[in-house]
Amino acid sequence: MNFSILIQILALQCLAVVCVSREFDFYYFVQQWPASYCDTKRSCCYPKTGKPAEDFSIHGLWPNYRDGTYPANCDSVNLFNDSKITDLESRLEKDWPSLACPSSDGMRFWGHEWDKHGTCSESFLDQHSYFKAALDLKNKANLLQALNNAGIKPADGKYYSLESIKDAIKEATGYTPYIDCNVDASRKYHQLYQVYMCVEASGSEFINCPLLPHGRSCTSQVEFPSFSHIKPAHQEL
Ligand code: 5GP
Ligand code: 5GP
Repeated sequence: MNFSILIQILALQCLAVVCVSREFDFYYFVQQWPASYCDTKRSCCYPKTGKPAEDFSIHGLWPNYRDGTYPANCDSVNLFNDSKITDLESRLEKDWPSLACPSSDGMRFWGHEWDKHGTCSESFLDQHSYFKAALDLKNKANLLQALNNAGIKPADGKYYSLESIKDAIKEATGYTPYIDCNVDASRKYHQLYQVYMCVEASGSEFINCPLLPHGRSCTSQVEFPSFSHIKPAHQEL
């Protein structure tokens, strides 16, 4: 075999590896319950646009590998650019508010999520498609409605079985979620903090989770606290 043919074969093999190698296997779509975030952080701050509605909000859409590891900060060139999502801003303010302090308009949180996670799936979803996919997934899951349908409503001091929460979400969406708990401000009771669902690589369909995340496990009974009485510890206006 002459040298140039050998080079061509090697080049084709490299191309094949690049073509079949996957950037990631699936996404975790993670939603947070704002009252639980505020209870734990104890110093949550409402967004500049005001107190969010009592609803689940998006934490992130995170590319993951099947072995439990995940890529992060994959492209330092194509960093967050807010001008690419101006048409989605009002939906993002409503469905992906930032409760961290100091108060913000959400850009910092969205920018962090895109830079850390979104850049790792950009051959599937560019920046605009990534945010739109997350917003559409939130609507599709409609978690609050799923829980309401099963009589599971936010209320302080009321406990629901973890199984009933998972069953209600499975009943409504077709998929069993992973529930991540934290402890309330008194540090005594487990409360529903985040809901993880798995999504295939194009970012539009839920799938059965290939692997459960390493999260904080929940006790068998958990609180689903109300957001109505929550007052942020620091409100920077
Ligand atoms: P925590 O330790 O609060 O669960 O996670 C901190 C951060 O690490 C998350 O917000 C997220 O950015 C990242 N992270 C934690 N677990 C996972 C995971 O299973 N997959 C991915 N892609 N990111 C994760
Ligand atoms: P992660 O790396 O955990 O995906 O992203 C969490 C980062 O976003 C942290 O630096 C956190 O302070 C910031 N952040 C801003 N707003 C929020 C919020 O409402 N919820 C969560 N979980 N993190 C937020």
